[in-house]
Amino acid sequence: MVVTRFAPSPTGYLHIGGLRTALYNYLWARHSKGQFRLRIEDTDTQRNNEGAMKAILEAFEWVGLTYDGEVEYQSKRLDIYKKYIKQLVDEGKAYNCYMSKEELDSLRETQMANKQTPRYDETWRPEEGKTLPPIPEGVEPVVRIKTPKEGTVTFFDGVRSMMNVDCSEIDDFVIARSNGMPTYNFVVTVDDALMGMTHVIRGDDHLTNTSKQILIYEALGFAVPKFYHVPMINNPQGKKLSKRDGALDVMDYKRKGFLPEALLNFLVRLGWSNKDQEIFSMEEMLELFDPSNINKSASSYNEEKLLWLNAHYIKNVSNERLAKELEFFDCFISGHDKKEILLDLCKERAQTLIELKESINKILERPTSYEEKGVKKFIKEDTSKTLELYFSVLEEVKDSLHLACDYEVVTKPFFEKYELKFPQLFQPIRLALTGGTQAPSVYDIMVILGFDEAKKRIFAAIE
Ligand code: GLU
Repeated sequence: MVVTRFAPSPTGYLHIGGLRTALYNYLWARHSKGQFRLRIEDTDTQRNNEGAMKAILEAFEWVGLTYDGEVEYQSKRLDIYKKYIKQLVDEGKAYNCYMSKEELDSLRETQMANKQTPRYDETWRPEEGKTLPPIPEGVEPVVRIKTPKEGTVTFFDGVRSMMNVDCSEIDDFVIARSNGMPTYNFVVTVDDALMGMTHVIRGDDHLTNTSKQILIYEALGFAVPKFYHVPMINNPQGKKLSKRDGALDVMDYKRKGFLPEALLNFLVRLGWSNKDQEIFSMEEMLELFDPSNINKSASSYNEEKLLWLNAHYIKNVSNERLAKELEFFDCFISGHDKKEILLDLCKERAQTLIELKESINKILERPTSYEEKGVKKFIKEDTSKTLELYFSVLEEVKDSLHLACDYEVVTKPFFEKYELKFPQLFQPIRLALTGGTQAPSVYDIMVILGFDEAKKRIFAAIE
């Protein structure tokens, strides 16, 4: 069975790059009818905070990613890691190292001065026939893993294919600190093995960790999962994505009026493709996603594309759903009797839920001022007269005015009779009803407002 996981370190909000990693793991697990686990990597207690964990769970809930089983917290699993560290020491695969921090620093300085890459000099590495230094008093040792001195660490990366790291590049690294706390690479490996991970999809910033983790898998006799290292997300200039390029916090996208469908669709394409398809429903993502098709090169963040996708989903989700989403922006139209027409009308032009709300409000709220440019251009001496006349004609049939076509039937002959052009009547009406000239179809607005409210606004404007 395929088992994947998302393993964030809770050091802040959930980053969109993190959500992309989570999505890929989620899709692959669900596609394969396997399991998707969530593990919080919180052993680094100083950098953790409760709020960050909540933020991750909140973001998952917003986008609808579900995970299997309980959330695992590494901070609650210390005994397990310590057991495996002891096992490696007992088996002679790891050893205590009593080199003090000062000694290590001075070793590093000397190596750097000699233009060598800093690496541990194996003073405490036990070897046959080697006499170790006397154990200094009062020094708590770190535990180092015995790494091979020759050969290569080899693993297959599903994105980059074969990876070879020369063992000479990996020194006997620390797997437990002097306070007994296991180190990052150690806990990740133990957890991935014990939780039965078959596929690990993560950012390629972890590539250097992977070779170390492989050595830990081998030392513990665990099966190595299949790795996929996903290239980073860059900004349009090809640099690392930063706050200046857009929001990084997943929940900021909610606050900016994006639908989760749009964000997930955007993220699935940022680093993965299926021919030239751009729009993916969740069902399609689940059907088509395969980590073997993850792109080899870094992807470029493009907010225009996200807006385009968002506009697509705003047009395509149900009006009921839109009305519900709008409540987050203090826009309550679920109970409005013309909700359907209102949303059909406004969603055509909206790229975000905030824009949608604004165009709804433009119709529902009485204008407090009128666009100057529009007034100058469209309000002529006889405009008030024309409007009064038009509304008196409408008034006669007001009980039959329910749909846009009902207004049209009355309006057409009116145009002909008075030899009017559309802007002569419609732009002043738009101005009077909404305060601007950009609003959508006049008939639809009048249907939404109802004749009486429309008339009130017209007469308020004329005065
Ligand atoms: N905790 C790591 C991070 O947040 C991820 C570890 C992993 O995926 O192996 O970057």
